[in-house]
Amino acid sequence: MKPLLLALALSLTLSSCATTTSPTGRRQMVGAVSQQQLDQLGAQAFAQMKAQKQQSNSQQQNNYVRCVVAALVRELPGDWQRYNWETALFADNSPNAFALPGGKVGLYTGIFGPARNQDQLAGVVAHEIGHVVSRHHDERITRQMGAQGALQIAGAILGSRYGQGIGNAAMQGGSILAQTGFLLPGSRVQETEADVVGQQLMARAGFDPRQAVNLWENMIQAGGGNRTPQWISTHPDPQSRLGELRQRATALVPVYEQARASGRTPRCG
Ligand SMILES: [Zn+2]
Repeated sequence: MKPLLLALALSLTLSSCATTTSPTGRRQMVGAVSQQQLDQLGAQAFAQMKAQKQQSNSQQQNNYVRCVVAALVRELPGDWQRYNWETALFADNSPNAFALPGGKVGLYTGIFGPARNQDQLAGVVAHEIGHVVSRHHDERITRQMGAQGALQIAGAILGSRYGQGIGNAAMQGGSILAQTGFLLPGSRVQETEADVVGQQLMARAGFDPRQAVNLWENMIQAGGGNRTPQWISTHPDPQSRLGELRQRATALVPVYEQARASGRTPRCG
């Protein structure tokens, strides 16, 4: 294993970073790992998650979330549609959700608490997909690799590529989600960008962008007790976010109405 690890670490170190433009026109540093490697990391983290966590066996709930994800994915730019987007619904009461490079969406059944209808659920999913299509995982890894070097991430990739299996890789270096920072809170800039991209996406798909505001109010309510839901704690500053979501919702109503008029009328549940 050692020569392979070294070789990959070297190639990762030497691969050059690049500047690109995010969907909201921001300059970002990406490219410490290739898109293919990033997709593989996402796929591996997702597989690890599925191996470790129980999934909901409710056909109705699974159909519901797949319907919402499919309606949103149809409105993504072509590059992002070529992925065979996969959804997993984990049986877990915390209101949590995430999306990963490689076209993976994970939801916890606890999300049905604050996300009370299909438009609110679309608000959650669209925000998470917003992180993926804005290359935030790439951006975070590129930043991390500058600070920590490539070996850690190379090890995670090697775990699957050279047949060690997910369990082994997890034992060696903790969860891949944690190693890669996939589940770390985004920066304020990334969170706002995911909000902007996500709310546009939901409107274009025929989900009411105003429901993103309701979703957040529900989230804040749910966080009222001693236990802050993970989704809230990884998405800081809820009050100012509410105001911004409300403002953008008003501007997006025509987009939403146009989408409905042209037949994008999702009926997911
Ligand atoms: Zn976020």
